[in-house]
Amino acid sequence: MSRIIRCECGYVARGESEGDVIRNIRGHMATDHPALLEKVTQEDLLAWIQIE
Ligand SMILES: [Zn+2]
Repeated sequence: MSRIIRCECGYVARGESEGDVIRNIRGHMATDHPALLEKVTQEDLLAWIQIE
């Protein structure tokens, strides 16, 4: 089973662990949503994780 985070833009970040999926979504935000990346906390990201 993988972890996913659905971005508000429709992008889906995937990873085999919480660390993987958070690294993935941070990379996406860095390129597509730099302003959001500055505001979002580690706790926010952990709360967004879904198991697929
Ligand atoms: Zn996005």
